[in-house]
Order: sequence, then C-alpha cells, then structure tokens
Amino acid sequence: MRETTPLLTARSVSKSYRRASQGGLIEAVKGVSLEVREREIVALVGESGSGKSSLARMIVGLEAPDSGQVAIRGEEPLTAGHTSVSRSYRRRVQLIFQDPFASLNPTRTVRYHLERALRQRPDGCSAETLLSQVHLEPAGAYLERFPHELSGGEAQRVAIARALASRPDVLCADEPTSMLDVSIRAEILNLLVELRDQEGLACLLITHDLAAARYASDRILVLKSGELVEHGDTEQVIADPQHAYTQDLLSAVPERWNLNRKPAAPSPGAP
Ligand code: ADP
Ligand code: MG
Repeated sequence: MRETTPLLTARSVSKSYRRASQGGLIEAVKGVSLEVREREIVALVGESGSGKSSLARMIVGLEAPDSGQVAIRGEEPLTAGHTSVSRSYRRRVQLIFQDPFASLNPTRTVRYHLERALRQRPDGCSAETLLSQVHLEPAGAYLERFPHELSGGEAQRVAIARALASRPDVLCADEPTSMLDVSIRAEILNLLVELRDQEGLACLLITHDLAAARYASDRILVLKSGELVEHGDTEQVIADPQHAYTQDLLSAVPERWNLNRKPAAPSPGAP
C-alpha cells in the first residue's frame, strides 16, 4: 500500500542570485522537485556549487524560492516571495549546519542552548534527556561546558540535540560531517540512522560525499548545476549509476571505501 502525503515536498523549486560582479544571474536551483517520506533518509548529493545549500535554505524557509513551493505534509506551502515562515513550520523542519561551532554561541553553555530550545515544549523534556538521545553521557559532564570545550563531533551532537528539542518531523542536515575528522564522520551518520530507526525522524542528508550518502541513506538524489540528474534507491544508484556525473562522483570516492567494487579476481600466476 502506498503511503499518503509525503512528509516534505519540494515542487519545481527555482532560485537565482544576482552575480556580485558584472551583473547577470546565477541559476543556483532549476526546477527541483523532491520528496522525503516518513522514516526515510534521503541523500542529496552533488559537488560544490551544485545548489545544495541554496535548496536547503529554501526547504527550511530561510529563503523564498523564485518559483515553485515547499511544504510539510502539503500544508501551508512556502511559495515564491514569501517573507515569513510560521512557527510551526520552523519547528517541524530543523537545519543542521556543516560547522557546528558556527551554529553555537561561544559565550553560552550547552545547558543554555538546550534549555532555550526546550522553552516552547510543554512536556517537561530535559536537557539531560536530549543529551542522552545523542549519546553525550553522563549529561552532567557536558551541560556546563562551553562550545570550545567540545570536540567537533560533540559540538555537532549538541547541535542535533538542540534540533531535537522542537520534536521536528525532518532534519535538513547540510554537510553535517564534512568538517569533522574522518574517524568520527560515521558516528554522526550512525546517529542519524538511529534517530530514523528509533524516533522515526526523517532526514534530508546533504553531502558532496557519495560514500556518506551510501552509508546512511535510503535513497539518493543527484544534483548537478542546480538540476536533479539522477535519483533512485541508494544501492541501485551506487551499483548502477545512470548519469555520467554520478559515475564521476563515484569514481571520486577513495578506493578504501570500497564502494561498488567487487573483490578483484586473483591475477593469474599469483601465489
Ligand atoms: P553547494 O551548497 O552545492 O555548494 P550553493 O547552493 O552554495 O551550492 O551555491 C550554488 C550556486 O549559487 C553557486 O554558484 C553559488 O556561488 C551561488 N550562490 C549561492 N548563494 C548565493 C548568494 N547568496 N548570492 C549569490 N550567489 C549565491
Ligand atoms: Mg553547500
């Protein structure tokens, strides 16, 4: 049986920017349509400059599209030229940034960030509970810390905990691991997978890294120069990429990730 209305939809969304020098327009996003369903991690993959962050800003309502619309469960769509976003929309779609430190106030503690985010929430959820959801335990060891006293991975977990405070329907995570050490990227991706599996939290996972997309996503959308050029189930896209651009992205993945590679046949004559 097909699901009803998808959780998050973008319909033919476009956005141009005026070029800073010599006039002219940059068409950053060109008629993109996508959907994210409940309990689904969808990876939006593309190289730098392909329009991923522009699309993310429209999806969370920070910017209005020039045309097209974005909606949560089809309600109160955000359309061209909108100037404000309802509180309920903002609550339901939370943005996670690439640089967790830039999204935290350096003069405030972890407790401050979380308790502030919890003010809208009537059910008595505590900062401690949020920290345990992102596996920063014991919570007491983190609550009074300032951002500079956290590692990059811990800071990103705090940013995710803060996003969870509003009980969002979907996270829009814009390159959430690209500033972290390679060794801890998988931990943050694991957390997104766990939040999907245990809390039913859907996620649009934006990344230039096809290995990260494969690791964590159910479906992959490939963005090139502002246009979607490929989409499909993750294993399908990795195993059999249709578009040359996807093939290029795949070949840029370091060999050690061992994506889409069958074990090499032993060469004749090898011992
Ligand atoms: P990505 O996140 O995939 O790297 P962006 O959405 O940041 O891509 O950028 C897509 C294109 O739009 C780029 O050419 C970028 O220079 C341009 N762009 C993005 N934001 C702005 C802006 N606020 N003003 C002017 N140009 C922008
Ligand atoms: Mg970006």
